Amino acid sequence: MSFKDYLEHSRSIFDRLYPDNKITTVEYEGPNIIVYTKDETLFSKRDDLARQIAQELRRRILIRPDPEIMMPEEEAKSIIEGIVPEKAGLHDIYFEADTGEAVIEADEPSILTARDSDYITRIKSETKWSPRAVRSPPMHSRTVKEMREILREFKQERRIFLHNLGLKLNAPLMEGENWIRMTALGGHREVGRSATLVSTNNSRILVDCGMLNTADGDKPWEGAPYLYLPEAQPFSSLDAVVLTHAHLDHSGVLPILFKYGYEGPVYMTAPTRDLAALLQQDYIKVAYSEGKKSPYDSKHIREMVKRSVILKYNETTDITRDTRLTFYNAGHILGSSSVHLHIGEGLYNIVLSGDVKFEKSWLFNAAHNRFPRVETFMTESTYAGRDDYSHTRSDAYNSLIDIVNRTFDRGGSVLVPVFAVGRSQEVMLSLEQAIREKQIPECKVYCDGMIMEATAIHAAYPEFLNRDLREKIMVKGENPFMSPVFKRVESSNERKDICDSTESCIVLATSGMMNGGPVMEYFRSWVDNPKHSLVFVGYQADGTLGRRIQRGSQELTLSDGGRVNKYPVRISIETAEGFSGHSDKKQLIAYIATMQPKPHRILVNHGDGEKSLEFSKLLRSKFGVEAVALKNLETIRLY
Ligand SMILES: [Zn+2]
Repeated sequence: MSFKDYLEHSRSIFDRLYPDNKITTVEYEGPNIIVYTKDETLFSKRDDLARQIAQELRRRILIRPDPEIMMPEEEAKSIIEGIVPEKAGLHDIYFEADTGEAVIEADEPSILTARDSDYITRIKSETKWSPRAVRSPPMHSRTVKEMREILREFKQERRIFLHNLGLKLNAPLMEGENWIRMTALGGHREVGRSATLVSTNNSRILVDCGMLNTADGDKPWEGAPYLYLPEAQPFSSLDAVVLTHAHLDHSGVLPILFKYGYEGPVYMTAPTRDLAALLQQDYIKVAYSEGKKSPYDSKHIREMVKRSVILKYNETTDITRDTRLTFYNAGHILGSSSVHLHIGEGLYNIVLSGDVKFEKSWLFNAAHNRFPRVETFMTESTYAGRDDYSHTRSDAYNSLIDIVNRTFDRGGSVLVPVFAVGRSQEVMLSLEQAIREKQIPECKVYCDGMIMEATAIHAAYPEFLNRDLREKIMVKGENPFMSPVFKRVESSNERKDICDSTESCIVLATSGMMNGGPVMEYFRSWVDNPKHSLVFVGYQADGTLGRRIQRGSQELTLSDGGRVNKYPVRISIETAEGFSGHSDKKQLIAYIATMQPKPHRILVNHGDGEKSLEFSKLLRSKFGVEAVALKNLETIRLY
């Protein structure tokens, strides 16, 4: 149906069901239809009516108050402040530009929503905003606030963007033979620069756009996926970009799409948007501080945020004329998703696992592996090698405690290179528990480089955490991340003091593979002292400094601000296995064995060359399905 038809059709349904509807505008917001009204009762009855009309129109309908009747934000804020009773413990009020909601953060939101109270109704009728009472997050994230501000600043631009997106989604389909292809642009038979293009006779969808962990800051282009293939060019011809999760090997190059002409949507979860923007911003900062270049600027990250379309887990939405997307929990990091693409009306289904953890962790539930339908499944294979065997969470915990105790006994300190997102929070939870249960001596745990900010983003999205942690985080005094043992390191002076201190301590610092970032400062000052320990807790990709050290390099040449120096490696090198956010081989096989329904074909990516190949062989023999590991630049026809 064309937009004009929808418009007339939806108006006529309203006129029939609710004649005095005072509708002012009907427009698209991506795949949804938004109806603006000046009628207050229509707006307050909107849920029932919207459901009824959505059934007739076969489109999701949202009824919103016309911005003209809504009170200006500052005025509305003071009215709300007057209505909310003191005992609710009001913290903050902010306005969601996208939805017309006034979000009220309070210590006791249940006081506002109690059945016998009229706070919500009063706020609604006096301000014409739609109030939503939530518990105030225990930690405050600068990034979450910045995202809200960008969305508010570009509210009008986003409204036009989302309407135009709706027009595109409703344009007529190209008739003719159906076909589906998948092109490996990066992250195939390697770990890093993940990018896969799915194309059909009606759409081109890019899933992930990451950078190689070994990318040299002087030649950042060498770490990018093969984006200049004719299949992906020009960028303006891509219909949609889908981001599985925020790690830079999946999101790190995404902003350059906006630098070179892409103007379309980026589908992701809310925490993925916030964490990706944080990590990309940090990438630029670290690159410049080391005298290197970045292939994009902050303004391109802002473009990504402006074009973001946020989805929850298990929520299905049209992303092109012939494709529907659903995100499922992947258990890997906050907001991480497996991607389900439903192409055509029942024609074909693809699941891309993204980075996936098929085990409940300290932070998340195990990855979801039940889908409505799936013909082709693409799985990661980071730890799918012959020698990759499982270590449990308790192995990880015990080995970390052991390393800390041994190091402290000889008067040394412990340095842990971590990804700001994922491993940091797991290691923090373990250390907090170990100190609380007196399994290691009381000590300071320093967090350097975006870790605390990333942790605050976790606290802002408790619905993405597993239930135990969610409940703990929301109760004051029990939130393990707010334990006084954690100290945020803010300046290079503080860093120097920690390096020179004789008191044993633990330092968690980025980057996780030691290719830059604050971890290098601690490493340089402790590398020649055998009483200290360097502990790896995460994956070290081929070609990174972390991997070289882990493999036993005796001497390293590192550049310090232009000068190249030699460092003998005398620090004790340790690995605490089991903190991984990836499934090991056993878990990947369990995932596929219990997957519903069974896929017809499996593609293996995101693993060192040999591992991906070996794993595809194993899957062929074990499950009797077609299984291949594409090479970068290869295309496979799926339908
Ligand atoms: Zn990842």
